[in-house]
Amino acid sequence: MKVTFSKESIKNLFRRISHFNLVFIPTDPYLSTKSLKVSSFKVLIFLLIYSFTIFLAGFYIITLLNLDTLLIPKSYIESRNKKEIIELNEKILNLAKEVEELQITNIKLKKIFEKQDSLNQKIKNQDSIKSKIQGNVFHIIKKTLFDLFSSISNEIIFLKPVEGILSNKFNPDKGHFGVDFSAKENTPILASANGYISFAGFTPDYGYEIIIIHSNDFITKYKHCSVIIKNTGQRVIQGELIGLVGNTGLKSHGSHLHFEIWHKGKPVNPEKYLLNF
Ligand SMILES: [Zn+2]
Repeated sequence: MKVTFSKESIKNLFRRISHFNLVFIPTDPYLSTKSLKVSSFKVLIFLLIYSFTIFLAGFYIITLLNLDTLLIPKSYIESRNKKEIIELNEKILNLAKEVEELQITNIKLKKIFEKQDSLNQKIKNQDSIKSKIQGNVFHIIKKTLFDLFSSISNEIIFLKPVEGILSNKFNPDKGHFGVDFSAKENTPILASANGYISFAGFTPDYGYEIIIIHSNDFITKYKHCSVIIKNTGQRVIQGELIGLVGNTGLKSHGSHLHFEIWHKGKPVNPEKYLLNF
């Protein structure tokens, strides 16, 4: 059977469903039945307004009573808090990093103190040798030899100023008046011997630089530091922290300490003077 929908038949269908009768049949058989003619269009409008009102009421109840935290999936809230968690995590990581750096500095400082202790021990040992010398021919010869050797360094003991590897030797012919110790950035630099800071500042070629004047016409220079923690005119003792290894100045290529020893106005080879080379 072929079903066709002509314009006329659709119009007739709408006309037929546009109105209907609502019939109220009472349970009590003595009461009369009532009927009410209703327009389909009006029923549709009523249903739309009704559902919209219910929707709005529900929406307000949920937001006013903060029920969204119960209704909204946990994953959504988690993603909302994720940003905060990431930020907190970053803060914790930064703190951990700082603690680690402090620990490293602590270890370095400990090493500096240990170094000073061992040096003091060496000086004490030398003193004990000297005290044993009196009244013995063999010891007098020994003392003469000892004095001869110590006169080479004019009785100043120079300490290696940094824990690093010798990367460039003393070569005055090629304008290298000291030695280079390659070391990680911010490795502590120690005063090689007791003295006074005659310069602590920045120069374009050598970056942050420290010059210490020692007794017996000795001078030591420390170049390319990242930080210097002493000022001109300050007194320093051997093994004291004076700065940190860096890569400052135009003549520096890579993190290292350029160290020079000068004696009576001339640069000397630090390899021959440093105690713990
Ligand atoms: Zn150098």
